[in-house]
Amino acid sequence: MHVIYGGTFDPIHNGHLRVAIELRETLGVNRIDLVPCHIPPHRGDPGGSSEHRLELLRLAIADEPGLGVDDRELVRGGSSYTADTLRHLREEIGPDDPLVMVLGTDSFAGFDRWQEWSSIPELAHIVLVTRPQAGLPPDSPPSRLLFERRVTNPAMLGRAPAGYILEVEPPLLDISATGIRARLASGRSIRYLVPDPVLARIEELGLYGSDGDECGR
Ligand code: ATP
Repeated sequence: MHVIYGGTFDPIHNGHLRVAIELRETLGVNRIDLVPCHIPPHRGDPGGSSEHRLELLRLAIADEPGLGVDDRELVRGGSSYTADTLRHLREEIGPDDPLVMVLGTDSFAGFDRWQEWSSIPELAHIVLVTRPQAGLPPDSPPSRLLFERRVTNPAMLGRAPAGYILEVEPPLLDISATGIRARLASGRSIRYLVPDPVLARIEELGLYGSDGDECGR
């Protein structure tokens, strides 16, 4: 089983890392790959450059062998369409290996605006992480898709290469990249919200409006 967890990671934070580890255990896989997107088509430009977001991701997972970084969307450049990424991965892993993509309910709520969204369930399973305050609009295309394809047993994902949606409610840390950027921009601390090496590098580079001194520590 190949599991990817995509996002802007602007910057990576402990909420992402905890959820990746919880899911690795729930799904019983050895590794989950974090896939930073290059130019997110559905939101404004990220605050950190692709290079910085990638560097922070690599620092964040350096001591965690069960997490990897797949930089294919940054290497490919241009808009990051998940359908393209899944198609390339499918070519690499072959037709039979289960392919799984992880996303939060906040992202899934706008799923029907994604490029080729209806082909995505043919390419991969979806693991949907329930985030508080991010419910699905009832009777929307994403909620209908969930209703048609929902499974409750994680083992089901191992029985087909694609097509199921597993809803999971791991314990979540109430951390968002938006909150981190806001704290940095107003000179507040982000310690314990991101791994220490990520904090140190953000300060060193003065990213997200941090002033580069030790105020965040
Ligand atoms: P922003 O605040 O800039 O929107 P974010 O913190 O939501 O960023 P993204 O990079 O947009 O982070 O998120 C990537 C994926 O991680 C999304 O599917 C999102 O739902 C999920 N995610 C983000 N923060 C958490 C968290 N604290 N717990 C669980 N999942 C999260």
